[in-house]
Formats: sequence, C-alpha cells, structure tokens
Amino acid sequence: MNLTSDNIAPAHHSVLSALGAVNAGSSAPYGKDEVTAQVEELLAGIFECEVGVFLVTTGTASNALALAQMTPPWGAIIAHSEAHVLHDECGAPEFFSNGAKMVGLPGVDGKITADGLRALLARDYWTPPTHVTPSAVTLSQATEAGTVYRPGEIAAIAEVARDRGLRVHMDGARFANAVAAVGVSPAEMTWRAGVEALSFGFTKNGAMAAEAVVLFAPDLIRNLAERRKRGGHLWSKGRFIAAQAAALLEDGLWLKLAHQANAQAARLALGLEARGLKTAFPVEANEVFAHLPAATHEALKAQGVGYYVWSSDSIAPHRAGGADEVIARLICSFATEPQEIDAFLAAIDGAGAQKKASRSPGTPLF
Ligand SMILES: *Cc1c(COP(=O)(O)O)cnc(C)c1O
Repeated sequence: MNLTSDNIAPAHHSVLSALGAVNAGSSAPYGKDEVTAQVEELLAGIFECEVGVFLVTTGTASNALALAQMTPPWGAIIAHSEAHVLHDECGAPEFFSNGAKMVGLPGVDGKITADGLRALLARDYWTPPTHVTPSAVTLSQATEAGTVYRPGEIAAIAEVARDRGLRVHMDGARFANAVAAVGVSPAEMTWRAGVEALSFGFTKNGAMAAEAVVLFAPDLIRNLAERRKRGGHLWSKGRFIAAQAAALLEDGLWLKLAHQANAQAARLALGLEARGLKTAFPVEANEVFAHLPAATHEALKAQGVGYYVWSSDSIAPHRAGGADEVIARLICSFATEPQEIDAFLAAIDGAGAQKKASRSPGTPLF
C-alpha cells in the first residue's frame, strides 16, 4: 500500500505505446516535429482558443518559465503560503526570473481568496523602488490541500489582479484532477476566468515526464523559446515529450485517468468517514488528508504503509485534529486500485483493533 503521491505511479500504457510509435524513422528536431504540432492543435481544441505551447519535462520548469515571463526581476509573485512554487522548487521561480520575490499569502483549505489578495495589495508596503512590484499571482489547481478553485473564485482573484496590473498564472500539476472534479470546461477553468498562463501537468496524470506551458495571453509568448533553451529545457528529440502529451490528450484520456484517481480518493474519504475519522480539507480531487490517531499511524507505519505526514496552517478551525493525531496525506493516481483503498481501510481497522487489545484489562501497558 503506497499512497505517498501520484508520481509513484507508472506511466500509462498508452503513453508508452505512443513513445514506441514515435520511435521510428526520422523527425524534425527541437519541437519542429509533427507530434509537437499535433499537441498544439489538441490543446487549442481543448481550450477552444489559440494557445502558445511550450513543452518541458518537469512541473518546476513549467512553473518557473511561465512565471519568469510575467515579472521583472524586481517583481513580486504572489502564491498561497504553502504553494509548491514557494517551497518545493528550490527557488526555481526566483532563479528563472532573475530574482523576483515570492510572496506567500495564507488562506484556508490551501486557497487564496480575492479578498485576501486585495488586502495584501492594499498594504502600505509596495512603494517602488524600496519594495518589489507585485507582478503576478499564481494559483495551484488542484491546490496543495487537494481542494479545487471554482471558476468564480478564479475570476474574482483575476479581477483583483488585473486591476493592479498583475498577471495570472495557474500551476496545474493536477489540472486534470481539478477539471474532472468540477466538471467545467478547461476554457472556463482558465482563460475565461482570467488565467493567462497554465502549467499543464501530464506527469502525475499518467505521463512519464511531460508538462506544457500553455499561454492564453499572446504577449507572454515573446522570448519564451529563448528562455526555455537557456534553461536547458528544449529537447532536441522533442517528439518524445509531445508523444506523451498527445497520448493523454487524445480521446479525453487525461480526463478519464483523472476521474479514476479522483474516484479512489472519494472511496477513501467515504471509508474514513464511515470510521469516524475526519479529514483536514474537503476531499475534492485525488488527495485526502486524514487525521489519524497517533497509535493508528504508528501501526500503519509498522506495516510499511506508504504516506507522508503533513502539517498545514491552512486548516479551517472546524476541521482541526486532536492533539494526539497526525495528518496523513494520501494521494491516489490513475493506477490506484479500489482493492488498495480497501486494504488501507482494513489496515486502519486492524490498527484500531490492536490498540483496543493492547489497552484491554490485564494487558500490561509497558
Ligand atoms: C508535482 C507538483 C509540481 C511539479 O513538480 P516537479 O517535480 O517539478 O515535476 C508543481 N506543482 C505542484 C502543486 C505539484 O504537486
């Protein structure tokens, strides 16, 4: 049982077949191949508009390149205070932007709000040249708390951003899970709500290593080709990234796999609820954050069950856990089987039974 992340999953067999299929004959290098053109067409169709597309192989590169297009070196990029771009990318957004400042904005359930952003921007803090210039806001979709922004929330944030001249980026490492969760069109989730650039993640969705910077604002395209090359992310055999993305985008496989992952998270959430165990955040996509009694956690770890222990300042008061509880971050992927979820829940039951047994009268406590 391993629910540590969705990147522990294998690549989907369609992705590997697609890699095999493009591994024949010769092909134009540096993204001038037909498969890359096909991905551009597929994305334009999915988003119902013209898009700029830049394929890379890590989400960090995708985020950092997109954000660097949106800010001068003396700019500020505003993100949720627990965002991946802020904590888990080793300063890549700062590095690629030649030193722009990442600014964290707290918010419940892993989300920033329009009001929160407005208040931050209204602070007497942004006077040039002493202070950095707010230049961009980035939203994780789905969030690091496994929650999902609705188009209305995005539009409200984007409006505040636009009023102050900030660009709007979306870190869509789990974009597929978010779209599947809300059931709106990819266009409604992005540019129609004011998103100007999306890091569209395929890796956690079922690729081996493929991510796309998708640009909705034409002016953001300028010199991104050079920035990607300088960053070492222009693949000469680019068709091998493109083939992965194409395999997932064709026939809606990306959404089908996201639905599968989300369904297992929902199954897990139901099982936890049935056992009286609370979650730290609403379960909306493919991530579940469960409050587990410390003894249950110890028993699960002793059995080698894989998950990360989480901490977060973004938990709503009514969802807070007890003092002797830990938060287990449990992530489902397209490859997570219902049996694995059931086995996990059975392991929780077993851990609880063990605990009761060890406290039964006559059993020594030490
Ligand atoms: C996984 C993830 C990324 C991308 O990470 P890489 O390891 O660089 O591919 C970006 N944002 C979020 C929220 C993620 O979960």
